Amino acid sequence: MDYANSLLDLIGNTPLVRINRSLDDVARTGPLVLAKVEYLNPGGSVKDRIATRMIEAAEASGELQPGGTIVEATSGNTGVGLAMVAQQKGYQCVFVCPDKVSEDKRNVLKAYGARVVVCPTAVAPEHPDSYYNVSDRLVREIPGAWKPDQYSNPNNPRSHYETTGPEIWQQTDGKITHFVAGVGTGGTISGIGRYLKEKNPDVQVVGADPEGSVYSGGSGRPYLVEGVGEDFWPETYDRGVADRIIEVSDADSFAFTRRLAREDALLVGGSSGMAAYAAKQLAEELAAAGQTDAVIVVLLPDSGRGYLTKVFNDEWLASYGFPTGTEEASEKTVGE
Ligand code: PMP
Repeated sequence: MDYANSLLDLIGNTPLVRINRSLDDVARTGPLVLAKVEYLNPGGSVKDRIATRMIEAAEASGELQPGGTIVEATSGNTGVGLAMVAQQKGYQCVFVCPDKVSEDKRNVLKAYGARVVVCPTAVAPEHPDSYYNVSDRLVREIPGAWKPDQYSNPNNPRSHYETTGPEIWQQTDGKITHFVAGVGTGGTISGIGRYLKEKNPDVQVVGADPEGSVYSGGSGRPYLVEGVGEDFWPETYDRGVADRIIEVSDADSFAFTRRLAREDALLVGGSSGMAAYAAKQLAEELAAAGQTDAVIVVLLPDSGRGYLTKVFNDEWLASYGFPTGTEEASEKTVGE
């Protein structure tokens, strides 16, 4: 018989798949652009990896005791990973998230048995109602509470150094030349980037960032794409790892997210569209420079199913003035 003893044993070892039609000419000329499909993790995102690593480290250090409660400020995916691992190991979970996070995502957390506390997005990080501060207060008030803090926990980047990085290296036979990822906590790009550069210092590490976020020189101005960009510099982000940051607008992120679903059957979230758009831009630059044998790996963090009422909803996109990508809608936009 071929089975896993627990869902937790199925985390990681996600496939790489070539992106084709949505790359236009680059799909024919090269470079090769490969997507690391992280929504195929059992919790549906890349964050299953960090959840396991952070919880196991806290158990080992004694910070998390039997019957304890995990409290985390999360935009959803880290919550799902933590909720899944916690449930299997017998811990409670309370998640604090900003109100811009889709209701779908919050309901997923509740389905796993977690409690969810929603805070306003439009307040500064130091405000008492900010989701960072509310989670700190809950940790003080709940007995046996432990806060993984994905923004400062070294086991966040470490999980990628130990699993995602080696997987990408092996899957590409060491032929990867460029790695592209969106940056939120920075754990993904820092852990994978460090591993790949240790294997081959010539591998170029490229961050993708929403316009307005600090990583691309912004001040934290609001943007709509979820899970990426920051208004502060987290400890989990290694400022030395990225060779370059490509800034992507919400409009381009959302339009490309929809192209990935329609043309390459990759139903992924907006941060995946953002990272893949940056990968496409990079591929076009490399093609123009004659480097058609480059191998670009772009990490797609989560599925589009959590965004059906947002990125994949024409009315939602139109309400922010974004084109929907359908002919009728673009005609309407032009005529307005
Ligand atoms: N995309 C999504 C949807 C996410 O939830 C996150 C995590 N915040 C990221 C991208 C960015 O990953 P990281 O935190 O490792 O930089």
